[in-house]
Amino acid sequence: MSAAERHILVVEDEPTIAEILVDYLRHAGFTPRHLENGAEALEAIRSDPPDLVVLDIMLPGLDGMTVCREVRKFSAVPIIMVTARAEEIDRLMGLDVGADDYVCKPFSPREVVARVTTVLRRAGRGGDAPIPSLIEIDEESQRLSVSGQRLDLTPTEFRLLRLLVSRPGRIYSRAQILDLAYLDDQDVSDRIIDSHIKNVRKKIAAVLPGVDLIHSVYGVGYRFEV
Ligand code: CA
Repeated sequence: MSAAERHILVVEDEPTIAEILVDYLRHAGFTPRHLENGAEALEAIRSDPPDLVVLDIMLPGLDGMTVCREVRKFSAVPIIMVTARAEEIDRLMGLDVGADDYVCKPFSPREVVARVTTVLRRAGRGGDAPIPSLIEIDEESQRLSVSGQRLDLTPTEFRLLRLLVSRPGRIYSRAQILDLAYLDDQDVSDRIIDSHIKNVRKKIAAVLPGVDLIHSVYGVGYRFEV
């Protein structure tokens, strides 16, 4: 399917932001459509399903979270949620409203278009991307190799990297990383996660110089992507 056949529904009540997004999406070759109201968006998604929805949270009619939850009762259409508050993303991910990705305002429209492309690609493959072949995980010995070379990871670094690698392209918030990768959470702070990430990056860079596999998503968390 070409980009022009990809219908993107932008649900946003701030006209300037909506206009910029629609422009960028059109320039990128998509067919965007814009609605301002949550209740109308829900109806439109039901009656004329788009290929992807960019959904603002603060909306007249129904808020974005409710729209997302309602949509999930009848559709798996990819949804990118837009929030004005970075702090809110952790909470949203915890609530598990069923969104595929999150962006935070103010955003660069280019970044949103890139996310739209990534999420569509992921959805086109029928869910999460497979673990790339350059990564090998040996669960038994708790070892992880990149490009055939074993990384010298601490047990915590191993769990952290295994978590990110297990769902390529998926963003994990720091709170989720804490929950899922730290077995014996003593007093682990966000800053400690950042420093573990830094160490893991260094160890990967020693094997694959110049290749960034762990991406920081500003205000959100981390994702693994080749
Ligand atoms: Ca809004």
